[in-house]
Amino acid sequence: MPEIVVGAGRIRLVQGDIVQAKTDAIVNAANASLAGGGGVDGAIHRAAGPELYELTRPFGGCATGSAVITGAGRIPLPTRFIVHAVGPRYSTARDAECAALLRSAHEVSLRLCEEKAVESVAFPAISTGVYGFPIARAAPIALQAAMEHLKAGERSVKRVVFVLFTPADLQVFSEALASLGQG
Ligand code: ADP
Repeated sequence: MPEIVVGAGRIRLVQGDIVQAKTDAIVNAANASLAGGGGVDGAIHRAAGPELYELTRPFGGCATGSAVITGAGRIPLPTRFIVHAVGPRYSTARDAECAALLRSAHEVSLRLCEEKAVESVAFPAISTGVYGFPIARAAPIALQAAMEHLKAGERSVKRVVFVLFTPADLQVFSEALASLGQG
């Protein structure tokens, strides 16, 4: 299981279903309406139950590149929070802008975890499904955001887990982590 130590924290990569992550917080790849959808969003909403819609509704949506945090509905402890992060829809013509938005979706998610004193958080590969972000391009952006957050010190977040859905996606993240870890 690939893992690196960063400052006082760790980044770990696993393959599986993020609903089973057993971290204090789970990040959802939400859309701007926060009204639910397919992919990881569908899986999280199914596990958390209809009350998750009640928790997101007051926000009235979320800007791309940002995130909101709610309770975890019926997802069992230790998971107490769901972070609804809105990554960009990828377009080659706007690659740099998409990269910045993907990065900020991760940064805001991690900041929200700090506000709730979260120690462990699981991310899916945001934007790499229906939103079409090439995973080999997304992986170093996501990993770098996590590394920089952990490096800053005095963080409540000590463990960031990326839960990749397929072995191929885990492989891409593992290679990106290996090359960033050496840098
Ligand atoms: P987006 O709209 O941000 O692209 P998707 O849900 O379509 O969101 O896909 C994001 C990533 O989440 C993809 O890599 C997809 O394979 C993965 N994924 C789908 N279901 C799950 C799940 N239950 N746990 C973890 N990752 C998942």
